[in-house]
Amino acid sequence: MAGRWRAATVAAHRPETPTARTLVLRVPDWPGHLAGQHVDVRLTAEDGYTAQRSYSLAAPAVGDLIEVTVQRVPDGEVSPYLVEVADVGDQIEIRGPLGGWFVWRPDDPAPVVLVAGGAGIVPLMSMVRTRRMARAKALFRLLYSLRSPAERYYSTELGSHQAGDGGLDVFLAYTREAPEGVTRPPQRLALSEINTHGLPPDSAPTCFVCGPTGFVESAANALVALGHDPRRIKTERFGPSGGRP
Ligand SMILES: Cc1cc2nc3c(=O)[nH]c(=O)nc-3n(C[C@H](O)[C@H](O)[C@H](O)COP(=O)(O)OP(=O)(O)OC[C@H]3O[C@@H](n4cnc5c(N)ncnc54)[C@H](O)[C@@H]3O)c2cc1C
Repeated sequence: MAGRWRAATVAAHRPETPTARTLVLRVPDWPGHLAGQHVDVRLTAEDGYTAQRSYSLAAPAVGDLIEVTVQRVPDGEVSPYLVEVADVGDQIEIRGPLGGWFVWRPDDPAPVVLVAGGAGIVPLMSMVRTRRMARAKALFRLLYSLRSPAERYYSTELGSHQAGDGGLDVFLAYTREAPEGVTRPPQRLALSEINTHGLPPDSAPTCFVCGPTGFVESAANALVALGHDPRRIKTERFGPSGGRP
């Protein structure tokens, strides 16, 4: 059924940062999805021109409500509409859920290392929220690389301890500007930090890495260099950017 386009209505939206927002979409008869899966979104202009892009599901479904979080890409065709124009009541089309490899199931007891670059936090946040909702006990280590405090998604939720989040540790790596009081100088996520704030290869964690292509490649290489089994490293690339998030 994932191949069928479905009508989705914007039920709500909320800003995450000045350039990103979460859209809550109502999709009648949504079949449910796994943490890590994505949907394709299709927009149709009045003249019939269509454009479609992929967006990760940001949270477990609540009935027929699903969430995506979209980062505005300057001069992009689809993301500026979703971040700045789409409003409550508007209709778009979606297809999904899609993807069967980059997924986490709450009944999997294996420990998990999550490495996010920029908007790559979205499917990893879905895993964190799914774990919380299921009261799952698998150890989670989240390393989140971002440019500045202003670009931090889900800051309230990831910044304070939430019931059900025991066993989740979050490490923030600011690459360009750190908030006051943070002693780590702004710099790229280092291999030594993945070592310290991740989990040892001996514990055989499943590693999920998501973000811009260049970020994903360097983080996955670092995990391999630290001794993690490449078969347990799952990656999702969001876009062509090789720049640091
Ligand atoms: C499986 C998957 C899941 C994704 N999940 C998300 C998500 O949860 N949230 C999210 O915001 N995006 C996500 N993306 C990226 C998304 O699909 C689009 O690529 C992005 O929104 C840009 O689309 P656009 O139409 O605005 O830009 P386009 O019109 O496609 O591109 C405009 C310009 O920006 C460049 N560009 C395109 N994509 C990116 C990018 N990601 N980063 C930097 N530059 C880019 C292009 O090379 C081009 O120069 C995901 C991609 C994949 C493959």
